Amino acid sequence: MTVRLEIDGDRWRTHLRRVALTNPGLVPVAKGNGYGFGLASLARRAEWLGVDTIAVGTYTEIPEVIDRFSGDVLVLTPWTPGQAIPEDSKVARRLIHTIAHPGDAQALRDIHPRIRYVLEMATSMRRHGMTAAELRSEHHLQDGVTLHLPLVGDNLSEARELLAHHRGTAYVSHLSGADVLELERDDLRIRPRVGTKLWLGDLAAFKVSATVLEVHEVSRGDEFGYRRRHAPRPGRLLVVSGGTAHGIGLEAPAGDTSLKTRAKTAIKGTLEATGWHRSPFIWDGEPLRFAEPPHMQASLLWLPMGARVPDRGDRLDLRIRYTTTTFDETVIV
Ligand SMILES: *Cc1c(COP(=O)(O)O)cnc(C)c1O
Repeated sequence: MTVRLEIDGDRWRTHLRRVALTNPGLVPVAKGNGYGFGLASLARRAEWLGVDTIAVGTYTEIPEVIDRFSGDVLVLTPWTPGQAIPEDSKVARRLIHTIAHPGDAQALRDIHPRIRYVLEMATSMRRHGMTAAELRSEHHLQDGVTLHLPLVGDNLSEARELLAHHRGTAYVSHLSGADVLELERDDLRIRPRVGTKLWLGDLAAFKVSATVLEVHEVSRGDEFGYRRRHAPRPGRLLVVSGGTAHGIGLEAPAGDTSLKTRAKTAIKGTLEATGWHRSPFIWDGEPLRFAEPPHMQASLLWLPMGARVPDRGDRLDLRIRYTTTTFDETVIV
């Protein structure tokens, strides 16, 4: 009775090893819901891969990884004055902080003179980071610079320009192994931070499914659900595992704003205006519709007459976004 993630272990490990080999200096990113796998699991994978550094998103994620991975931990969210730092010196020594504002590095060094940090450079992302002029005022010893690049566009040129005068180590995102080779110089070492293309780069290694909990035959007009809706015609209601607690029915905005996509969304809008939203549950290759909005841990789906009828305990495929889904069960097969 679960939302289950099945991993083809051999296939996943082969992929992870290939990414590590083609991205020398790789820094795996383990943040948020751990890309669907959980932070603890990613920390153990990173240890198995043999990398010397991983990146977490926030300070609160450090305890999840610190005992499962033996190397350094880069914290991606910039440190701000007032942010507490782990007191255990064995932990503190393994952390690399990110500094994104002039003056913050000094405040961090006031906590401990030998604390390690990287300076974040502003990029076209406009998220965090200092301008070239601000960086010049921060020329103390540091562990390098860091830059976060967009997912699309000419990242190589942008990185080349930003790093033209930098010597030492630069942590970067969203650059290919080939880009990294091009950027590296005798006096510049590039360390690519990779999350999605590492953990989720071979989606064929995964299968996500949910359990059919109940099958109810309904006649036209029969009442069902929290909202006392009426069946529009004869059919079946499926009660299946998976609801809002798993992240089902919560859709992140599609990053795509092309006209075609917007037209598609508009069409979907009219279907959805009728109250029968397409669900991520797939049966016989067809997405089923929600009979009403997903519940906390279960969903009510509409199975039209004529469709093959599943049995209790059968599994439906589930098309989800790994970064917003919580699985009840992860099995390696
Ligand atoms: C999330 C994140 C990454 C990894 O991004 P992916 O697209 O998952 O590879 C790298 N750098 C920073 C600063 C991030 O926040």
